[in-house]
Amino acid sequence: MKILNLNEGSFPIKLSFELENHNVPNIGKLTNNLSVEAQILKISKNLYKCDGSIEGNFLDTCQNCLKDTEINISNTINVTIKDSAEMHTDSSDQDQTHYQELEYFDLYRFIEEEVAIIYPDIVKCNKDCLEEPHPEEQEKNLPFKKIRDLIE
Ligand SMILES: [Zn+2]
Repeated sequence: MKILNLNEGSFPIKLSFELENHNVPNIGKLTNNLSVEAQILKISKNLYKCDGSIEGNFLDTCQNCLKDTEINISNTINVTIKDSAEMHTDSSDQDQTHYQELEYFDLYRFIEEEVAIIYPDIVKCNKDCLEEPHPEEQEKNLPFKKIRDLIE
C-alpha cells in the first residue's frame, strides 16, 4: 500500500514505480513487473488529473482452449481524480473519473483499478481460437492430410 495525501504538497507529483504483483480479481499473474510512469496534476481544489502510461505482462488462460496465454497491457492513463465524497453528487460527464479519499489516496488501489479497466475482457490464445472449437482434433487430422497430399 502506498498512501499519498493529495490535499497538501506540491504538484505535479511525478510517479515512476514498478509493482511485482497485484490484487485485481480474475486476471492473470504478472510475469514481469508492472511499470507505471505518470504524474498527478492539481487542476483545482478537489479536482486532480493523472496522466501517463502503464505497462505489464500477464500469464492468463485462454477462455476457449485453456492454453496458457500471455497478455500484454500497454496503455495510457488519463483519469480525473475526485474525492469519494463527491461520488454521489457528481453530475459532470467525465469519461473516466476515479473516486477516492484525497487525504489518504491509495496509489496502488488506483493503479489496480486502471489495470482492471485496461485488461481485455476476453482472453484468447490467438484471435481465431473461438472459431476453432476443437484444436486437438485438427492436430490429429494433420497426418491424414499429409498422406492425402502425397496421394494427390
Ligand atoms: Zn485458445
